Parts: sequence; structure tokens; C-alpha cells
Amino acid sequence: MALSDDFLMELRNRADIESTISSYVNLKRAGRISKGLCPFHGEKTASFTVYPDTQSYYCFGCGNGGDVITFIKNIENLDYIDAVRFLADRVGLQMPDENSYDNTMNKRRLRMLEANRDAARFFFKCLTTPDGAVGYTYFRNRGLTDDTIKRFGLGFAPDSFNALTNYMLGKGYTKDELVYANLARRSQKNPNNIYDNFRNRVMFPIIDVKGNVIAFGGRVMDDSKPKYLNTSDTLVYKKSMGVFALNLAKKSGKDNLILCEGYMDVIALHQAGFTNAVAGLGTALTSEQAQLLSRYASEILISYDADEAGQKAAARALSIFKKTSAKIKVLHLSGGKDPDEIIKNYGVEKMKAIITGAANEVEFALLREHNKYDVASDDGKRQYLQAAIKVLSTVGAIELEIYASRIADELSVSKDVIVSEAKRQAKRNQSTAQKREFTEIQKKDDILDKLNPQRRMFYRAAKAEEMLIALVMANPEFLTGIDEKLSADDYITDFNRRIFKSVTDRLREGKSAEISFLYGELTEDEISAVAKIQTISHTLKNTYAECEDCINVILGEKNKKVIHNGDDISDEDFLKFFKE
Ligand SMILES: [Zn+2]
Repeated sequence: MALSDDFLMELRNRADIESTISSYVNLKRAGRISKGLCPFHGEKTASFTVYPDTQSYYCFGCGNGGDVITFIKNIENLDYIDAVRFLADRVGLQMPDENSYDNTMNKRRLRMLEANRDAARFFFKCLTTPDGAVGYTYFRNRGLTDDTIKRFGLGFAPDSFNALTNYMLGKGYTKDELVYANLARRSQKNPNNIYDNFRNRVMFPIIDVKGNVIAFGGRVMDDSKPKYLNTSDTLVYKKSMGVFALNLAKKSGKDNLILCEGYMDVIALHQAGFTNAVAGLGTALTSEQAQLLSRYASEILISYDADEAGQKAAARALSIFKKTSAKIKVLHLSGGKDPDEIIKNYGVEKMKAIITGAANEVEFALLREHNKYDVASDDGKRQYLQAAIKVLSTVGAIELEIYASRIADELSVSKDVIVSEAKRQAKRNQSTAQKREFTEIQKKDDILDKLNPQRRMFYRAAKAEEMLIALVMANPEFLTGIDEKLSADDYITDFNRRIFKSVTDRLREGKSAEISFLYGELTEDEISAVAKIQTISHTLKNTYAECEDCINVILGEKNKKVIHNGDDISDEDFLKFFKE
């Protein structure tokens, strides 16, 4: 590792954490801190906190925390060096010479991307060979033009155990490289042998927004299983973040994206002129994919299959997108089970009409309930009314007016009753949601518990240890005084001792001990833990007297070393310990 301290200091000064995070999260300033809705987990009340003083952030909801580099790493899904490079680019800072820092991971990533690109070329070329004719015929039978095939870089993996492997070994890739990229697998009988991962499948390269081939999806051409085989997670690809065709869709010039279920739907839509279509990879939409998509469009049109499974998936996707800033609509597909079929059967105009008539979230939810019941019968009418009120209890005042009127007319019931019942339920929802969020935050308290298994056993000492770390990080001038009374050896819990030692060793050498400088010594979780510890200093007066209190508690507990179970002690109660 080891980028120089000077470089990191310059980066820290130029890439201010508050303004950097502001371009991703809507932050509100409150005194010395800023708060916003966490981009890493869904929440309605802001527990994501940015501390300009310490140039750190911490989310009390999910425990994600660190410095500006950690933030970029997590939000852009980059490794450490790439996150540094990303920030340096952004603020116009020249990266140091490659040989001056350990670049192994980055080199490995680049090599893997190269391998993927070569493999994509190989699969594409196969379409024009006798072995690949069957793949080419498949695409053409599905109505794809040569242009489309080229545009998506589609290809074919021959029915062979070593076609790709031999080709890639010939190009100088090692067996390890092919296995790590998930292009090949190791034989169980003889691990020295490798064989092609994708065989007898049409191939869809997954390309990220920067144009890198990061993975592949391979589809069988008949009914054999598994229908799809996708690259598993590698250094350059995380399945939960993968989106097919986002590289093309982001250039569509449109402010919305059509989210489909499968590759073929996306390709058919692009070919018909809907170049803003994308698909998730694998079956169920993840919150990471939703976050990613909502960064590229303010409206998402969900276009899942018309069958029950597809509609269930659409309802699920709706609830996931609720936690993002994107507006959501659901396409009501008719005339075919998926966009591919609809365009084939009825043409582009039909698809356009479906997109224009897309149902918003409320309409979709009401329609789903409506389809469940026979509203011609009294019983069905009553059940639908109950379900509809439940839906309306989650909407705003204007929508409530509109839909309550519609339902009242349709069912010949009083609109006022629907409105007041929906409002009553809304109140109830609110208090349950608040309770739930509160318990979730309580549960998360503890990244510190997770990383420091001795913490609950020596709770009183551990809290004082953490406070002392926070104090010395925020006020390095206290170190001389602390050194006279206590050393790292006096720390009782191992994890805190290690952090305290890292921080104070650096300070004694006259170096900065901010999080950005501790990367070499800490894991990602540990970085979050230190960010959590740093938040403590914002609840304190930051006086040397507080350091002395902590030291006395630590030394006192060290002599006692009794187990103190602090499961039920709040931070406020703990502060009172000092006054005992
Ligand atoms: Zn969070």
C-alpha cells in the first residue's frame, strides 16, 4: 500500500468530504455536522451523518462509515486505489508515480478486464464460424439484425470444453487468471486442468458504464437447465450491482429507463428504438441495482412479464425503489407476455402506447388488488375496499382525493368514509414505521460489538477506551499528557488497544492520525468502526479533563478486571459513570 502522507493530505484538503458527499446525498447542515438520507440503506429519517471537523462520516442506521475515500469506494463500487484515483481526477490532483505504491490489485483488475474483452471478441467471432452457426441462427430467428448483434457484442460459446481456454492460454493468460475471471473452472479430479465455464450457449457480455466488459450471461438455446449461466462475483463484478445495457441506455438522452426482466427484452426494445431499456442480472432486483439505476434516471418504468410471477416481482421492485429518489411506473403489458413478443405481434406503436399509459405506483397497487376480487359480489366488493384503503393509507393528500373518488364511484360507496379510514390507518402505519426504524438503529449500534468481542464483557472500560481514542484523534495536543499516565498496554480490550496504538504511534511521529491515513492497517469494517468511535468526540466538550476521566476509568477497571455486563446501558447513563 502506502500512498505518501503528503499526497493523502493534499487529497484530503482538496476533496472536502461535505462537498463531495453533497453531490450524491442531499445534506442538511445542523451546527457542526450535516445529515442526510443514507445512500447505503433505505431509511426515512436521516441517520447518515457527515462530520466536516474530522472529515469523516458515519451512518447510525447501517454502520457504514469512514472518510471521503471510503465513501467513494462504497458508492462507486471501486477498490481503494481506484477510489483515490477517482477523487484525484475530480479535484485535479496528479496521481503519484505508479511504482511508488502497491498497485497489485489494480493491475489484477485491469488484467481481468482485458481477459473479459478478449473473451467477448472470441465469442463474437465464433458466430461467423461453422461451430457458431447455431448461435447466429438462434439470434436471427429471434428477430435480431446483424447491427443489433454487433451493437450488443453478442456471441456464442462453442460446445467444447476447451475452445475458449485454449484460445486464451494462447494469448498468454494463465490458468489462474481464467479461473479468477470465471471464464474457466478447475477440474475436480485434476485441479491442474481447467475447462470452459460457458459451453454451447449464446453469450451476452455485461458492459459497465465505462465500457468495460465485466461479466457474461450465457443462455441455452433449448429448454435445458440452467437456462442462464452468469459470471459469479469476481474482482471486477458484483452480481448484486450488475445491470445489463446501462452502458447503452445512459446515452439514450432520455430521463427515464425501462427496466426489463431479461436480456432478450432489452435487446428487442433497443432494436425497436427504445434505447433506454435495461435489465437486472439474475432473478430478483437488489437495492444496490435500484440505487444505481436511480442515479441515471429520475423515472423508472418497470416492464416485467405479464404473468403472476412477473407482477409479483414488479410489486417487489416497487418497494425496493421506494427507498430511492426515482419515480416509478409499471407498464401494463398486453398483447404478449413480454416486450419482445408484443413488439413482434403488434409493432412499435403498441409498445409506445403501453409506455405512455404506464400505471403509477398507486394505480398499479390498486389494479393488483382489484384483480384479486370479484367486485360484482358484496363480499368481493368489501374485500377490495379494505385492500384499497390499505393502499391509500400510504399515499399523499392529493392522490388520496383522486383515488378515493374513483373507488367511491366504482363501488358506489361514500368517498368520505374511504378518506377518513385511509387517514386513520396512515397514522397507525407511521408509528409502526418509527418504532421499526428505532429498533433497527438500536440493533446496528454495534459494529463496535462485532469487531471488539471483549466489548460487552468489559463494557465500562471499552467505552472509556473508545472515548479516549476519539479525544486524542480530535485533539492531538492531549497526547503528551495522556502518555504520562497511560500506555497502550493499559488498554483492556484488544481491538481498542490496537486502534489506540496505531493512532498514538502516528501522532508521536508527528503524522496525522485521521482515518485516511490508517487504511494500510485496518480492514474496511475496522475503518467504519473508527468512524463510529470518532463520532463520540462530537458529544463531548473536548477538554483534557475528559481524557483524565477516561484514563482513570481504564486504569481502575484494569485493576478490577471484573466483568461488567453493560447490555442495557445507554450512552447518557454511561457518561454518568464518570460522576460516580
Ligand atoms: Zn446507512
